[in-house]
Amino acid sequence: MEAENSGHVLLFPLPIQSPINSMLQLAELFCLAGIQVTFLNTHHNQQLLCRHTNVESRFRQYPKFQFLTISDGLPEEHPRSSLLFGELISSLQAVAEPFLRKILPAMTCVIPDGLFYYAVDIGNEVGVSVIPFDTISPCCLWVYLCFPKLIEAGDIPFKGNDLDVLIENVPGMQGLLRRRDFPFYRLTNCATDLYCQLALKEIQSIPRSHGLILNTFEDLDGPSLSLIRSNCPQTYVVGPLHLQLKNRLADKRMPSSNSLWEEDHSSIEWLDTQPIESVIYVSFGSLAALTKEEILEIWHGLVNSGVRFLWVMRSNLFREEEFNHQLLKELVEGCKERVYIVSWAPQEKVLAHPAIGGFLTHSGWNSTMESIVHGKPMICWAVYVDQRVTSRFVGEVWEIGVDMKDICDRYIVEKVVKDLMVTNKDKFKKSVDKLSILAKQSVEEGGSSYNSFEYLVDYIKKLGR
Ligand code: UDP
Repeated sequence: MEAENSGHVLLFPLPIQSPINSMLQLAELFCLAGIQVTFLNTHHNQQLLCRHTNVESRFRQYPKFQFLTISDGLPEEHPRSSLLFGELISSLQAVAEPFLRKILPAMTCVIPDGLFYYAVDIGNEVGVSVIPFDTISPCCLWVYLCFPKLIEAGDIPFKGNDLDVLIENVPGMQGLLRRRDFPFYRLTNCATDLYCQLALKEIQSIPRSHGLILNTFEDLDGPSLSLIRSNCPQTYVVGPLHLQLKNRLADKRMPSSNSLWEEDHSSIEWLDTQPIESVIYVSFGSLAALTKEEILEIWHGLVNSGVRFLWVMRSNLFREEEFNHQLLKELVEGCKERVYIVSWAPQEKVLAHPAIGGFLTHSGWNSTMESIVHGKPMICWAVYVDQRVTSRFVGEVWEIGVDMKDICDRYIVEKVVKDLMVTNKDKFKKSVDKLSILAKQSVEEGGSSYNSFEYLVDYIKKLGR
């Protein structure tokens, strides 16, 4: 009976690491607030999650929580790489649509990833509240919301090859956003580009939703949030989620890992032996693939800078070929004493470590939030979608790092590493520490993200009555 009174939410993340991580944090927050939660995962990711984390025992303490799994529609041996993301999205949709139609009538609210526009329509069809969770950066979401206007004005696809031309039809970002900062900067045809079409469907579904959840905090993204609210007034800004969860756990410990791969904790032991703020952490998230040339230029730039580094070399980081163990062995040979390589790290613990002085990142949104929370300045090597807008904000708006955007040679890398870790270290550290404090305040009782989460819980509980 109590379950009915407090509402029953279905959480349905995009089947990749970062949204699964954020949605599980949201799930645990709802459990702590007494809401009944069903978490819909794919068989493939649930297997990985259970193999590498204590997620099952952790959630067993919440009697009103359950996992449900569905197939993602792909054969088990499919690589599920970033290059085949479109296949994953459409095969999952074919399985998820009928499944949602069947189970949504038993829910009071569904929280799908923002990309699952079809969940909004099904929710409306069966009379269930839908509040998408957009796990991308709000600055990029605002650019997405401007797409129809940009297409109508003929600004996209770009005419000519000059990527430094400013895009003037994104209100709030005039003079800031260049073509090279645009999420789909290689776009040639909006009608046939999968990612552009997905983004358009995503933003078209927002007015049919009952709200929107974003993982940020007002003091970081206030201007973008005001613009987003002009399209979606009911926007719940509840981040940084991992900090919100930490604050609400009884023992205030760092939330447990939701990692799909085995974390190599020897990286922490290695960091324990390094001087304070001497190491740069290098990681390109869970999906992005780099060319061999990019990897080599970044590697040599780091080595030539003389700075120590910890690099996450996951097996699918090389874009064109199988992971090249021999090459890696040769590279490490010459600089063993100040380099440490792992295939997957406990990233939150790494970023919290005092030996880390900076983060060379692909500017994924989770990584950016985690870096801000732990007060680590960034060097950005953005690959695609929201990373391109976020990295521009890191460099030019928040001034908490350097955006390398599209220029990847070893001399530039060496220069920006020295800039971040030595020459301008104090300047960057001061700005990021300021944001880190504001992030912490936002999730404390009475803070903006704390309050926003309370409103969200209230809304869901009222639906259940
Ligand atoms: N991550 C991790 N260990 C690693 C690399 C990444 O735990 O070695 C986590 C990281 O903490 C973050 C997520 O994976 O929560 C990556 O999310 P992000 O949005 O930064 O990038 P994406 O993988 O979506 O491109």
